[in-house]
Amino acid sequence: MTSILNICAVLLLCVAINGDVYGAPPARELNAEEEPVKYNDAQLWRVDLDDENAKEILRGLESENDETSIWNSDGKTADLFLKRSAIEDVRQQFKVNNISYSVVVDDLQKKIDEENPKEDESQYQNRSGHRMTWTSYHRTQDIYGFMEYLARTYPQLCRLLTIGASVENRPLKVLRISNGRKNRNIWIDGGIHSREWISPASVTYIINDLVTNWSKLPAYIQNINWYIQPLVNPDGYEFTHTSNRLWRKNRSGTGNCRGVDLNRNYGYRWGGLGTSPNPCSDIYCGPGPFSEPETRAHRDFFQSAPLFFAFLTFHSYGQYILYPWGYATELPADHQQLHQLGLRAAQEIQRYGQVAYRVGSSAILLYPAAGGSDDWAKSIGVKYAYTPELRDTGRHGFVLPANLIIPTARDALIFTRVVAFYVATAAKDVNAPESN
Ligand SMILES: [Zn+2]
Repeated sequence: MTSILNICAVLLLCVAINGDVYGAPPARELNAEEEPVKYNDAQLWRVDLDDENAKEILRGLESENDETSIWNSDGKTADLFLKRSAIEDVRQQFKVNNISYSVVVDDLQKKIDEENPKEDESQYQNRSGHRMTWTSYHRTQDIYGFMEYLARTYPQLCRLLTIGASVENRPLKVLRISNGRKNRNIWIDGGIHSREWISPASVTYIINDLVTNWSKLPAYIQNINWYIQPLVNPDGYEFTHTSNRLWRKNRSGTGNCRGVDLNRNYGYRWGGLGTSPNPCSDIYCGPGPFSEPETRAHRDFFQSAPLFFAFLTFHSYGQYILYPWGYATELPADHQQLHQLGLRAAQEIQRYGQVAYRVGSSAILLYPAAGGSDDWAKSIGVKYAYTPELRDTGRHGFVLPANLIIPTARDALIFTRVVAFYVATAAKDVNAPESN
């Protein structure tokens, strides 16, 4: 068995484990929701998974200890989040068992406090319509204000759609960018996991590039109808700004264990591997497929919209370009084409951004996780369904400093352009629903 499969086996046994796809600090921490959750002296460790013993210990930590969780793993190492109260015990356990690790982040709250410096308000004064920048992370109001501004300012090109409302009744806004012709369609979304702030920041960067550079863009980009939703999970996103920076799910339910992992709630192979039926888990798949208004909005919109050629849902972190299937290590019939596009994009990103992205199916490269949006998109016939995991590879994890927004968003933009090229040049009958 390969090491990847080994870690998959580890992960499958561990309900709370989580990379991008997997959980976070336990929801139980959120008893007093009025009080913002602090992560003083919480740490992120990189643990070597060289031998079975290390995997066994991690498995034990996950099942017995709700104060640790795995943020990311590629089978060789795992990024382990530890609350302050867990650190001494785990350190002893690792020492006794001869497990090697390094401390990647020694005070997570310090990193959170430094992540998003306040911008000088005076820079907004001369700007007519919106407050969006890519030098800091912005709240929902700024992101929606930016989309409204574009729709107002470029009415020939942009149209703002509301495709539903969140649990807390925030509108789910999609910007349509189109030259008005009958074109192929590409869907882009971000922020389904609310703590992955770089995702909506990158998706709005793509929007900005498309709209403000439109007349200079190549025909293969202009001849696409773009549908872009930067915030799939606005409730969770606001909650990460006001109450708990590391919140991942939406905000449904009441009591101590709120929220559904929206990226486990889609209706293809719902409730399978890498999901949890426990509402306290960060990978809780919900009471049923499409139980959440945020995922239902996608289902309903796609039922009424024309067929999409590509579906890109941006996450962080790890620097991966992932394609279906996520539910199991099986591959779609056209996986070689998906892989080829991914490799091409990774090459381009390496060339311009000097960073490496790895390419593969979600379940094989990382671990199985059923009910994800990319699997669902693929299942309804979208040819190019991808889940890019943006920067970094763990130095900052989910708390990526704002000065890395632009370089990371450029990775996302390069990837998007490569996808557009493939979509524009694909054969006419390229879309075919998977039969399985
Ligand atoms: Zn994610």
